[in-house]
Amino acid sequence: MAAPVEAAEGPVSAPELARRLAGVREGLMRACAAAGRDPASVRLVAVSKIQPAAAVAAVLRLGQLDFGENYAQELRDKSALLQAEGAAPRWHFIGPLQRNKVPLVVGRAALIHSVDSLALLEALAARVARVREKEPAQAALVQECLIEVSLAGESQKAGCEPHELPALLDAFANLGGTVRCLGLMCMPPLSDDAEASRPHFRRLRELLGELGQKPRPHVELRELSMGMSHDYPVAIAEGATLVRVGTAIFGARPSRAASQ
Ligand SMILES: *Cc1c(COP(=O)(O)O)cnc(C)c1O
Repeated sequence: MAAPVEAAEGPVSAPELARRLAGVREGLMRACAAAGRDPASVRLVAVSKIQPAAAVAAVLRLGQLDFGENYAQELRDKSALLQAEGAAPRWHFIGPLQRNKVPLVVGRAALIHSVDSLALLEALAARVARVREKEPAQAALVQECLIEVSLAGESQKAGCEPHELPALLDAFANLGGTVRCLGLMCMPPLSDDAEASRPHFRRLRELLGELGQKPRPHVELRELSMGMSHDYPVAIAEGATLVRVGTAIFGARPSRAASQ
């Protein structure tokens, strides 16, 4: 997938980040109130892809713990930079993941949102087994994951087809607890109209309910990762438990080339 290239703005100032984050938190509370949901049931993932580590550190200081990254090397580099400063965000990997990048992500990301094939899942499980063996401190490592589902048909490359879900969940059950599935993720086609996302969000929630009918080991279907800057209130109305918000917090992303 091509990296998004947007207006080459400088990083947003710390007071501006605080103002923006407060605005998103308020939007989240409002959406929960409108839907009759407990705000504690929705976690905000601040999507920091292509943003400098300093911006993550500034938002972390505002009490935001969960951050989402799309690129494996960027996750590795940024987490190392922040760790050196004693900062420990909870990282979410939300981008397409190539099998050869799996070692950069396993153990670093608390939750991988983008598992979409058996081959990827098996690579993740194999990596977890290897890390457990090599690093005594990680002997109990379990990689928690969500399955990304493609609900838009042909137009969407990332994500598995809904009919592939039962087999993927069976695979989670059969990988000995190295990987655990906590739910589903989707990314509807971008649209100016947030309401255009609603049927996708609703379908994802229905799928979670349907699949949850069959209990499986290492599968605990409780998370729905859906909703971005432009449509997170709609996602919350449809049951999102994780919303992935980037631009509304950090401002427009600098061009990816400039950040590397
Ligand atoms: C970039 C990205 C987001 C955040 O998008 P914004 O429109 O900036 O909020 C959310 N989810 C995924 C998978 C992304 O790649």
